[in-house]
Amino acid sequence: MPLTELKNHLAELHNLSMAGAVLGWDQRTHMPPRGGAARAAQQATLSRIHHEMFVGPRTRELLEAAGGAAAQLDPDSADAALLRVVRRDFAKATRVPTALVVELTRTCSLAEEVWAAARATNTFATFAPWLEKIIELKRQYAAALGYTGHIYDALLDDYEPDMTVRQLDPILAELKRQTVPLVAAIAGRPPIADALLTRDYDPAAQQVFAERILRACGFDFARGRLDRTVHPFCTNFSINDVRITTRYDAAWLPAALFGCLHEMGHAFYEMNVNPAYEATPLAGGVSLGVHESQSRLWENLVGRSRGFWQCYYPDLQRAFPRQLGTVPADDFYRAINRVQPSLIRVEADEITYNLHIIIRYEMEMALLDGSLAVADAPAAWNQRMSQYLGITPPTDREGILQDVHWAAGLIGYFPTYTLGNILAVQIYQAALAAHPAIPEEIAQGQFSTLFAFLRDNIHCHGRKYPPAELITRATGRPLTVEPYVHYLQTKFGELYKL
Ligand code: ZN
Repeated sequence: MPLTELKNHLAELHNLSMAGAVLGWDQRTHMPPRGGAARAAQQATLSRIHHEMFVGPRTRELLEAAGGAAAQLDPDSADAALLRVVRRDFAKATRVPTALVVELTRTCSLAEEVWAAARATNTFATFAPWLEKIIELKRQYAAALGYTGHIYDALLDDYEPDMTVRQLDPILAELKRQTVPLVAAIAGRPPIADALLTRDYDPAAQQVFAERILRACGFDFARGRLDRTVHPFCTNFSINDVRITTRYDAAWLPAALFGCLHEMGHAFYEMNVNPAYEATPLAGGVSLGVHESQSRLWENLVGRSRGFWQCYYPDLQRAFPRQLGTVPADDFYRAINRVQPSLIRVEADEITYNLHIIIRYEMEMALLDGSLAVADAPAAWNQRMSQYLGITPPTDREGILQDVHWAAGLIGYFPTYTLGNILAVQIYQAALAAHPAIPEEIAQGQFSTLFAFLRDNIHCHGRKYPPAELITRATGRPLTVEPYVHYLQTKFGELYKL
């Protein structure tokens, strides 16, 4: 049974990855500071064994043997999808020379430290040579992988399989065309007050409330955990063991409240993959954009809706009587939806967030194709900030140095955040078309219909269908930006009386 042998081999590879993921989760949640050096060595050993085992001759032999049996498989079967996914992963992993992989890993690991120091001291010049080196290595990486259109396609494919610049450009251009005037119009309206969100919210009480909301939405604590960390994330070691993390800021209630809903959306995806895919490459999210659509859907479309707080605001008031006891629900709703051009991406509201992404996308394209020199990048960044958002960073620390992604070698990653925002609305509208009562159910604290729609149309498939096919199957059409633009215009037009 060549296919069974291949699956057993892949399960061992999977187990190695999951063991590495446990070490990574522990490192970012519970590990004491001096455990760092040993932990890095342990993770390097595991990832080396995994890489050697995956690109080694045994995988090729098993793939070839299983390929013989593939002709008899139903093309829509999980086994046919498994072979397609593994062949694709294997082809990519073996195309890049090991020396380049090692050089990229080494450079990025050092560059992250240089970046952290450059950010702390606000000196882009010390990071610039490292960014140049990373861009050059990424060009080599793209060349090794190969591409037919733009060089960016090869990098984007690591995060959003099959997505190309040709598809992405018009989407982001349309979003920019529609949102830059919307941001300008909002800037001309009286600002919404949000100081009520900064009133000394006890972290322990925040945690109790967050866990209550997670449970109500359907998060199964028998198959998941919530822990504290510095930079929140979701990870998993099995379909039945999914970990989310958050950070509590006493002076900013939305950080943990919406952070938990966001990570919960990621967790639902991993928890609801077809159990038959456990320990195979079909388990897990199909792309970062589709993954982010799930987190954004719960964070923004559910969590920042009037209906959700119609149900839960009285509970929140009881949890924080001194801070919110006399604050009307509508003031709270408006505060959590305030739009304000800001310098820092991770603090941005639903509308301006995408402009931060578009700036990074345009910069990455220009840096890769050589039309922008690294030395000129800070000025180019600031010029775009002022053009799209109407504000200019006073320092590079609040500008080009704010994100770790480029230092970490994650070039081509940013657009997936915006794809997630767009897809969240498209998928939510498909859920509403199938089940028009969902908003009323949410207003009563009932989430099972929405949960089941997402489980049956997105989550359960794991990586079985390529992203574009999954979206068309789930929503009846390919990725489309119009519903998202319409959602932003309607929601914020009402909030700001435009
Ligand atoms: Zn996310």
